[in-house]
Order: sequence, then structure tokens, then C-alpha cells
Amino acid sequence: MDKADIRRCMLEKRCSISDEKSIEKNLAIQQKLLLTPRYKEANVIALYSSFRGEVKTERLIERALFDGKKVVMPKVSMEDYRMHFIAISAKDDLVTNSYGLKEPEQKQTNSGYFAEENIDLFVVPGVAFDLSGNRLGMGKGYYDRALQSVSRDSVVALAYEFQLIDSVPAENHDVVMGTIITEERIIDTLNI
Ligand code: ADP
Ligand code: MG
Repeated sequence: MDKADIRRCMLEKRCSISDEKSIEKNLAIQQKLLLTPRYKEANVIALYSSFRGEVKTERLIERALFDGKKVVMPKVSMEDYRMHFIAISAKDDLVTNSYGLKEPEQKQTNSGYFAEENIDLFVVPGVAFDLSGNRLGMGKGYYDRALQSVSRDSVVALAYEFQLIDSVPAENHDVVMGTIITEERIIDTLNI
């Protein structure tokens, strides 16, 4: 299967899990993340706004702010497929963009971007993953571009167990996950 086939098949599955099951799984994934030394030690954490069946992050955003972390959230630029991180101080700082995605508000163009090298932990969504840490996204390479020079250790993916497949086709530009957290386990992709 190529990237497009896997994407199609996974998105169908991700949307078809029942609400009840999804609440349970989301809680398990969130709890696992909160217990990792990486989360506990991080001062600055990049989180995402969950969209269309991705592992949910609303509680994580609230909890990280409550824990005194600096929380940064991605803002995408549709023209050049770039993504930048902007700090928020409350969940209400997020506004819905034209694609229905919740993003931090930007007061002035190109200002307030948080440099990737100052972010301790990147929590990322995805469509499919393999145990080597390869990630399939929505097909625009936003995270590949944004995380191309960050340390692999600082990248933690949240996924449902069924999103793990034998092998994700990986290209040179693809960013590799250091850790993948599912409802069942924490996968350290460097020690598998
Ligand atoms: P996704 O990671 O969202 O599943 P792909 O890995 O297929 O999507 O990447 C989508 C597109 O983005 C590809 O055409 C790829 O060449 C481009 N791309 C990804 N990373 C970079 C990068 N660092 N610089 C330039 N183009 C990139
Ligand atoms: Mg990619």
C-alpha cells in the first residue's frame, strides 16, 4: 500500500470507533503521557488541537497549563504549508480557522512565533505509525517541515493501537517519532 492507500484506510477506522471506546482510550493515552519523565521535566510543550478522530488533547492542554507548563500550539499557513508554534495562556486563546481547526490567535503577522529549539516536548498526532517511529500524516508534510531539525527524543506521538501498522513508507523528509503512546503501551522507538 502507498501512503495514500494507508491514509484512506486509517482515516475510516479512526472515525468509526465508538464514543464510549474512544473516551476510555483517550483517557489511557493521556494518563500515560502525563506520567512520562519527558512530560514531567518539560517546561515548554507543543500540543495540537485534535481534529477529526485524532487522539484528543483538550484535557492535556488544560492540565499542562495547570501544571505550570508553557503551552505552545501550532498555527498553519495554508499558502506555504508551514506551521509555527505560538504560546497560549488559556484554552480560550484558541480560535477556529477557516478549516475548522482551533489555532492560537496571532496578534501580528509573523510575530510571537516560538522557536522550535526552545520547545522541550512536541506532542504530535498522525494517521498511521510503525514501531520504528515512522509517521504518516494528513499528506501535506506540515510536521515534517516544522520538526526537521528537532531532536527525535523530544517528539512524542499519540495514537490508538490500531493506528500502528507493520511499515509506514518513509521518505527522507519524514520526521521520525522518538516515542509513540497508545492506550496499551509506550513505545520507545529507539529501543524496540
Ligand atoms: P505527511 O507527512 O503529511 O503524511 P508527506 O510525508 O507525504 O505527508 O509529505 C507531503 C509533502 O510535503 C511531500 O510532497 C513532501 O515532499 C513535502 N515535504 C515534507 N517535508 C518537507 C520539507 N522538509 N521540505 C520540503 N518539502 C517537504
Ligand atoms: Mg511525512
